[in-house]
Amino acid sequence: MSSVVEFRGSFRYMESGGDRLRRSGRGTWYDRCGELALTEHSNPKCDSCRRGIACGLDCTLSKLVCPKCGATA
Ligand SMILES: [Zn+2]
Ligand SMILES: [Zn+2]
Repeated sequence: MSSVVEFRGSFRYMESGGDRLRRSGRGTWYDRCGELALTEHSNPKCDSCRRGIACGLDCTLSKLVCPKCGATA
């Protein structure tokens, strides 16, 4: 089982439900069309992650691109 952790535009961030230790970047982004999204991580970490407490979101994510339908977020 996996669950949606975060949404951005038409993309959703899925994480395995069995992961009890949530760390940003551990999940997978999928587009609305079902395709695996291409990601770019160049944003600075959020305050929580900077202090060593993972926020659980993919906060350093700066860009999402779907290689199939061309959607971006
Ligand atoms: Zn964070
Ligand atoms: Zn797509």
